[in-house]
Amino acid sequence: MKRIAILGATGSVGKSTLDVIKLHEEYFNVVALTANTRVEELIRLSIVHQPEIALIADASKLPELKRGLEKHKNIQVLGGVEALSSVAESANAELVMAAIVGAAGLEPTLSAVKQGCRVLLANKEALVMSGEIFMREVEKHNATLLPVDSEHNAIFQCLHGQSAQEKVDNQLIRRLILTASGGPFLHKPLDDLSKVTPQEACKHPNWEMGRKISVDSATMMNKGLEFIEAHWLFAMEPDRINIVIHPQSVIHSMVEYIDGSILAQMGSPDMRIPIAHALSWPNRMMSGSSPLDLMMNNRLDFLELDARRFPCVELAKEVLVEGGAAPAILNAANEIAVDAFLSNQIGFTHIEQVIEDTLSSYNNDSVESLEAIKAVDFKARAVASQLIMKEYTE
Ligand code: NAD
Ligand code: MG
Repeated sequence: MKRIAILGATGSVGKSTLDVIKLHEEYFNVVALTANTRVEELIRLSIVHQPEIALIADASKLPELKRGLEKHKNIQVLGGVEALSSVAESANAELVMAAIVGAAGLEPTLSAVKQGCRVLLANKEALVMSGEIFMREVEKHNATLLPVDSEHNAIFQCLHGQSAQEKVDNQLIRRLILTASGGPFLHKPLDDLSKVTPQEACKHPNWEMGRKISVDSATMMNKGLEFIEAHWLFAMEPDRINIVIHPQSVIHSMVEYIDGSILAQMGSPDMRIPIAHALSWPNRMMSGSSPLDLMMNNRLDFLELDARRFPCVELAKEVLVEGGAAPAILNAANEIAVDAFLSNQIGFTHIEQVIEDTLSSYNNDSVESLEAIKAVDFKARAVASQLIMKEYTE
């Protein structure tokens, strides 16, 4: 029995993780579940999975959580961001599913790394913000980092457990190829993009995901963040990472070796597959997903990425090369802009403009510590919010 904590249990990845675990209860002991504000859902999941700790980040909801679980004396009920940041330690977890969305996931995920846990990483924003520090801590604490993001999980599988760096050092790999569906607006006339609604942006053609990552997929900032994520996870130079549009989302990413072989991982677009892979690695187990029907999916198309349609990808590549605080600024500005779009404050095409303006009105500093990154995140959010108020709100 492995002791597992699920950070962001009420979200799309969190719930899919619990679905996979439910199929293998003999192997996993769910020791902690966390949520931000959705207390009713957390109560429901806690009653089903009986964790040792149920934690709500929004401390004002703690009394409600206590009332909901008062009959379950074996469940310790906690609240607040401070408790969240050390929950892997409090729960003495061996495995941690990092599935909080956004910068809020950074501290709790990093703290799981510092516990030397096996960390199943869905929260890409943490790595985007703090790549160098994060990877240093992974090494220092001998933590195991397993990618859950479907593209990175696919690459990990195609590397056969060896790091990409080892293979590049041995001159075995030519490049990593990240696939991208292109999202809901791949073929929409460019002039119509400024008018799209949050509802349209959240309607992804192939995947069902939380709202923030759905908008990121529509702008393709998601692929930009994944580009940065791939750089850190696989120690791969930016010019050896390519992005290709593959609208069917059947191939989840590829590795090209020097002999001309391209290895791809295929499967239904169902997060339970990479989740089951990371949960059982280096073994395999059932994910609950139906097998891919090749006759029903008998076409694999590949298209070049149109930078005019998806300018966010170029922005993300630029901040990676620039380094320092730039990736954290990009991430913070994106989170604020996506929130503003989702609450109808700004238009869809303003998202990229807010990020670009935030980046250019902020002096890039070097960031050597978690505190420095948190300070950059805080300030960049304020800059982006101000820009939205002044420049973009009608
Ligand atoms: P979601 O919005 O469905 O769920 C987010 C979870 O994080 C919820 O449990 C919520 O309670 C928690 N949370 C949100 N804000 C918080 C805060 N301030 N403090 C504490 N907890 C907070 O998101 P999701 O789609 O499950 O995505 C989660 C992460 O996984 C993201 O980083 C996303 O990029 C990544 N990811 C998701 C998918 C997917 O298919 N959904 C695929 C690949 C990667
Ligand atoms: Mg992905």
